[in-house]
Amino acid sequence: MPKTCIIGAGISGLTLAWRIKSQGGECRVLEKSSYVGGAMRSHRQGEYLAEEGPNSILLNSAEIEAFLYSIPKLKERIIEAAPEAKKRFIVRNGKPHPVPMGPISAITTPLWSFGGKLRVLKEPFIKAIDPDTEESVANFVRRRLGDQLYRYAINPLVGGIYAGDPEKLSLRYGFPKLYALEQEHGGLIRGAIAKMRSSRAAQGPKFRKRIISFKDGMGEFPDAIANALDDSLQLNVSIESIRKSDSGWQVEWQTPKGSQSESFDKLVVTVPAHRLRKLPFEETLAKQLDALPKIDYPPVSVLSLGVKKEDVSHPMDGFGALVPECEQRNILGVLFPSSLFNDRAPEGEALLTVFVGGERQPELATANTDQLLATVLPELQSLIGMAGKPTFVHHKHWDQAIAQYKLGYGKVLEAIDQIEATAPGLCLTGNYRTGISVSYCIEAALNHDL
Ligand SMILES: Cc1cc2nc3c(=O)[nH]c(=O)nc-3n(C[C@H](O)[C@H](O)[C@H](O)COP(=O)(O)OP(=O)(O)OC[C@H]3O[C@@H](n4cnc5c(N)ncnc54)[C@H](O)[C@@H]3O)c2cc1C
Repeated sequence: MPKTCIIGAGISGLTLAWRIKSQGGECRVLEKSSYVGGAMRSHRQGEYLAEEGPNSILLNSAEIEAFLYSIPKLKERIIEAAPEAKKRFIVRNGKPHPVPMGPISAITTPLWSFGGKLRVLKEPFIKAIDPDTEESVANFVRRRLGDQLYRYAINPLVGGIYAGDPEKLSLRYGFPKLYALEQEHGGLIRGAIAKMRSSRAAQGPKFRKRIISFKDGMGEFPDAIANALDDSLQLNVSIESIRKSDSGWQVEWQTPKGSQSESFDKLVVTVPAHRLRKLPFEETLAKQLDALPKIDYPPVSVLSLGVKKEDVSHPMDGFGALVPECEQRNILGVLFPSSLFNDRAPEGEALLTVFVGGERQPELATANTDQLLATVLPELQSLIGMAGKPTFVHHKHWDQAIAQYKLGYGKVLEAIDQIEATAPGLCLTGNYRTGISVSYCIEAALNHDL
């Protein structure tokens, strides 16, 4: 197996590293910061547990499950979300309403008007568009499902997943599975039925799709891989030079202990796209990276709040509530992590995670903690009936949070393919290439050609 250098110890880099190590291969992981996990980071303060990045993982394949179980000491730390996780709320007219989970609730829900519900019935009869016509997520949903479903389902969902703007995001690249449903099955409803049948058969009877986290939060996952990697992983690294050699790649780096230089057969770079240009590649490659079309990463603030349960009138009996853009609120949504997982807040209290900013309101994300509280608390008061002061506050500001797969993203991906074609042994990967969810990042690393 080739000797591999992996730059970046987020979940993309760590997954690949553990895969190589557990198959007896040789790799070195170089991480700039003093901790692993990248976006996946938990903050424990007394009995409160705040997630700064992802709150959970959708465990959606037997392959990912087997990978998690292969990491020493991790299996017994995995916790499954409470059944309430299936219940999600969307705000309409200032109130969170449960997203329908069956045909009866879909008919009775106040989330969509009568006309909006009828419009959905037309979906199976709408023809697929030409596969080469690139369409925004918003256009696609309006075309197939109508404006109501767009405004009060997909718009808030995209705000929740990408902190993104569905008018600008490319369906084909941002939501490839939805794009494929139309292209391969002629529509969403037909495609969903076909997928349900085939995925049951493919996964076998033993696998169960579920939402998971870890007893001490998401950060436990990268930490467990880091422990298993042992001295293959180096933190606090400053990369000094990356050069192509006859046999592969020569990488030089500094750590607080001194400088090192090593040659590798392969180089896998997993840093976010906006950090790529900062790496010390030699001139030709640096120029190619400079010419890569820009990928936007909007800012997001994540505010974790402890609250007394008696101070909140909403039962918080679900995953959380997402806010459609047309509701003109100052938050993207609020999650109820302590309703899903134990040990997130002290007895009698709940933990809330509020997302602010994104493509919708980038200016709000850059506020300091006091300003943010002044914005967020009135919203929570009005949306979930929160009174009183929070018992705990943790604020994480992401200046560049999540890669946006905007219209024209095909050009970005093509340019990356071209760079790799001119530099054998080089792979540029991470959530801007493989899809932004944690499961996509893991899946990509598991399918990476070793
Ligand atoms: C606020 C937020 C909430 C999210 N919520 C969810 C969720 O609920 N569910 C979900 O599935 N996904 C969620 N995501 C997305 C998901 O967490 C990320 O897409 C995923 O963790 C990215 O992993 P990565 O390894 O590709 O990149 P990163 O996590 O960004 O890791 C890249 C690593 O490279 C390192 N690095 C950078 N520059 C250098 C350098 N010069 N030298 C060495 N190392 C360097 C960084 O320090 C970092 O450790 C969320 C993301 C954010 C920001």
